[in-house]
Amino acid sequence: MSEKPIIGVLSLQGAVELHKPHIEAAGAEYRAVKTPAQFDAVDGFILPGGESTTMLKLIEVFGLWDSLAKNLSTKPVWGICAGAILLAEKVTSPAQKSFGLLPLTVERNGYGSQIDSHIEEIEGYEVSFIRAPVFKDVGKGTEILAEHRGLPVWIKKGKIMASSFHPELTLDFPSPMHRMFVESVKAIKKAA
Ligand code: GLN
Repeated sequence: MSEKPIIGVLSLQGAVELHKPHIEAAGAEYRAVKTPAQFDAVDGFILPGGESTTMLKLIEVFGLWDSLAKNLSTKPVWGICAGAILLAEKVTSPAQKSFGLLPLTVERNGYGSQIDSHIEEIEGYEVSFIRAPVFKDVGKGTEILAEHRGLPVWIKKGKIMASSFHPELTLDFPSPMHRMFVESVKAIKKAA
């Protein structure tokens, strides 16, 4: 009936293409986006995992901050690992700039370094923690969708969702997280 929503995955650095089969299996269109015109043309964003410092540098170098800030504050967004770091209000170890759209403190590499990366099951689905941030001080009104080892790992407040783990590396499409995100984008698009 209604048109498929378009999900833009910020395509500056990190795990971008791996989202395509998950997004498509969840009933949406995938786009890799890196220009303001492309940002304006999508219904929802995934800020992928990768390296948040590198992404920040590229956002500065290409002059994308204002356009991204505008789009991220008005559309549904899901930040994964480095992407969650970009969304958090406060970043520690070390501190760095962020869009501050989610009442959350993240401790970068809080689960340890590369050698401590591990696979876990969340909501019956295998996900990867790769130099993942620890989510702390989750703000009021934020839903905790999943916890692991007593820590929140998947959270949502209004249109903004964040996971400290990567679900896109698992080849069973779509992941429950992609399904939920695409459903929320569809609902928001329908209500608009
Ligand atoms: N440790 C990375 C950072 O601080 C995040 C790792 C990831 O996205 N898998 O940006």
